[in-house]
Amino acid sequence: MTTDPVNIPSQGSLHTPGPWHVRDLHPGRCTFNIGTNPNDPYEGEVAVVFRAGRHVQAHHKANARLIAAAPDLLAALKRLLATQYPGTENHHETGCRCVIHEAQTAIAKAEGRS
Ligand SMILES: [Zn+2]
Repeated sequence: MTTDPVNIPSQGSLHTPGPWHVRDLHPGRCTFNIGTNPNDPYEGEVAVVFRAGRHVQAHHKANARLIAAAPDLLAALKRLLATQYPGTENHHETGCRCVIHEAQTAIAKAEGRS
């Protein structure tokens, strides 16, 4: 039996499982809901992006889409590292600027380990 290391929950993977979806709760008012149910914005609600600062609505919508993509991005990045760069978990020193270290740092940030 083989084990897929990507699908083993790590200590930091406590987030609501994806996929997440974006819904425009009040068109024109810059309020975007992010949740797990594409048909019901309130069931499985994960976050709400409100208008803040001087950003335009397009920025808020782009921010909401980026947040909604986070579970997919995290899973894809972990799978990419596990399949394309196996065994590199401990081969990078603090301050290393290679793309593998950059990816590991982003995963650690997403999982609250940095
Ligand atoms: Zn490195």
